[in-house]
Amino acid sequence: MYEGVNASDGIGIGVARVAVEPDLSFTPKPVEDADAEKARYEEARLHFIDMTNKQIASMQERGLVAEAGIMGAHIEFAEDDGIIEQVTSDIDAGKCAEQAVKEAYDTYFDMFSAMEDELFRERAADIADVRTGLLAFLLGQELIDLSTLPENSVVVVNELTPSMTADIDKDNVAAIVTETGGRTSHAAIICRALEIPAVLSVENITGIIKSGDMCIVDGGKGQVIVAPTDDELDRYHAAAKKLAEEKEALEAFRGIPTRTADGIEKLLVANIGNPSDANGAAEHDAEGVGLFRSEFLFMDATELPSEEEQFVAYQKVALRMKDQPVIIRTLDVGGDKEIPYMDLPKEENPFLGYRAVRYCLNNPEEYKVQLRALLRASAFGDIKIMVPLVTTLDEIRRVKELVEECKAELDARDVKYNPDIEVGTMVETPAASLIADDLAAECDFFSIGTNDLIGYTMCADRGQDKVSYLYNPYQPAVLRSLKRVIEEGNKAGIMVGMCGEAAADPLLIPVLISFGLDEFSVSAPSILRVRRIISLWTKEEADALVEKIMKLKTSNEVRAALQAAAR
Ligand code: PEP
Ligand code: MG
Repeated sequence: MYEGVNASDGIGIGVARVAVEPDLSFTPKPVEDADAEKARYEEARLHFIDMTNKQIASMQERGLVAEAGIMGAHIEFAEDDGIIEQVTSDIDAGKCAEQAVKEAYDTYFDMFSAMEDELFRERAADIADVRTGLLAFLLGQELIDLSTLPENSVVVVNELTPSMTADIDKDNVAAIVTETGGRTSHAAIICRALEIPAVLSVENITGIIKSGDMCIVDGGKGQVIVAPTDDELDRYHAAAKKLAEEKEALEAFRGIPTRTADGIEKLLVANIGNPSDANGAAEHDAEGVGLFRSEFLFMDATELPSEEEQFVAYQKVALRMKDQPVIIRTLDVGGDKEIPYMDLPKEENPFLGYRAVRYCLNNPEEYKVQLRALLRASAFGDIKIMVPLVTTLDEIRRVKELVEECKAELDARDVKYNPDIEVGTMVETPAASLIADDLAAECDFFSIGTNDLIGYTMCADRGQDKVSYLYNPYQPAVLRSLKRVIEEGNKAGIMVGMCGEAAADPLLIPVLISFGLDEFSVSAPSILRVRRIISLWTKEEADALVEKIMKLKTSNEVRAALQAAAR
C-alpha cells in the first residue's frame, strides 16, 4: 500500500493510465531502406490523425467546441503538403524518420514563432504538439491524453495542473494519483469539485505503477493499493457501497434552509470554476455561488477573453442561479495559476509576487474589460464583484474607482447594469486580516480565503507536503485571525463569508458558527453534508466549545478538542 495526501474523498477502483512526459531523445541513424522509413513516417502520421479525430469527437460530444476547434489545427499540421514534402525528401536523402520529422517541424516551429501576427505565433504551440505526437509514436512511447480515456481509468501523473483538468474526461476517471500537491492545491480542489477520488503527493508513484495495473484508490484515507487481491477488491467494493448509502442519507437535507439547531440562518453556497459548474451547484442544492474562480475562464482560452465572451459566461451563471447571489472573483492569475499567453515574468517566489489584483491594477484597461463584463451580467442576476489577494486599502479603493469608470462607460453606451452592485474583498492575506476594520468600512462583504490565509499566516506552502504539519486551520494563529476578521465584518454590518476549503471542515464548522460567519462557500458535492453539520449545533453550544479551544496553545490540542466534540 502507498500513502499520500487524502485530497478528495471516495473510493476509485480501475486500471492505471500512467501519464509521464515522454522521453523524445534519439540518436539519428543512417537509413538504407528509404521506402520502409517513409512507411514508418506514414504510419505515425495516420495514427496521429486517427487519435486526434477521436479526441475531437469526444470533445464535441462533451460540448467542448472551442477545444475541439484547436485540435483541428493539429490535423492541418499533420496533413500539410509542404511539411510532408520536406520530411519525405529528407528521408530520401538518408535521414531516419525521427530526424526528418524533428527537423521539419523544428523549422516550421521557428518560422511561426517569429511571426509578427499573434494568431500565427500561437500556432507554433500546435506545431510542437504534432511534433511530439509523431516522435512519440516513432519512438514507441505512449502519450496519454486526459481528454479521452477508457472507462474506469486511474490517472497517475507527476503533477495535475489546472490546465490539464480543463478538458479531463471526468466520466471515465475512477481516481487520480499524483506525486505533488497538498489538500488545498488547485489539483485537490478541482478533484473535489469533479467528485473524483484523489490521493496526492505519493512519492515516486509514476515509477511504481505501470499503465494497465489494477489499482484501488481510497481518497478519504489517502491510500493507494496496486494489484489488489480478490479479498481487498471485495472489501473496497463494500466500502464504496457504504459511502454511496451515506450519500443517499444526506438527501434528507435537500431543499431545506440552512439553519443552526437554534434556528440561525446561514447562507450555504458553492465554489465554481467555470459557467457549466453552476449546473452542479444548482443540482447539489447550493443557495448561490460564493466563489466563481474566473481565472479558469482565462486558462481555458488561447488569448484574453473579450468583454463579450466574459459577459456571456457570467450571464450564464447569473441566469442559472436565478435570483441567488453569485460572487465572481476577478482574475486571480499568478501563484500556481499560470496563463501561458499572458507571458508573466518567471519569479523566484510567485506566491509573493506579481499576481491577482496587483497584476490587474497594473493593467487597468485589461482589468476594465472584465469589470464591464461583470457589470453587464449584473443586469441578469445578483452578481457581486470580489477582489483577490488584497493587502492594502488603496487596492480596494482603486478597484472601486475603476468600477465607477466602467459604469460611466456603460452609461455612454446605453448598456444596463446593476448600479448598486456590491464590491467585496477576499481576506486571504495576514495584511488584510490585520486591517480588516478599515477594509470593512470600504467593502460590501468579506469572503475569507483560508487556503491562502493559512499558507501566508503560517509561512507554509499550501502544496508542499513537507510543511503540511504547519498548514491547518487549527493553528492558534489562524484561529485568532479568523475570529478577528469575522468580528470586524460583523461590527461593520457587512456579510462575512468563507470560500476557502476550511468552510467545509466538519471540525471547524461549530467554531465558525460561534465566530459569527454568515456564509459558507464550499465545493458543490459538500453542500448537503455541511448543511447537516450546521444543523447539529446551537450557537450556545458552539460558543462553549470556542471558549475552550481559544485557550489552547497548539494546533494538536485544538484538533483533539474539536475531534472530541465532533458530531
Ligand atoms: C483561498 O485562497 O482560500 C481561495 C478560496 O482562493 P484560491 O484557492 O483560488 O487561491
Ligand atoms: Mg486564494
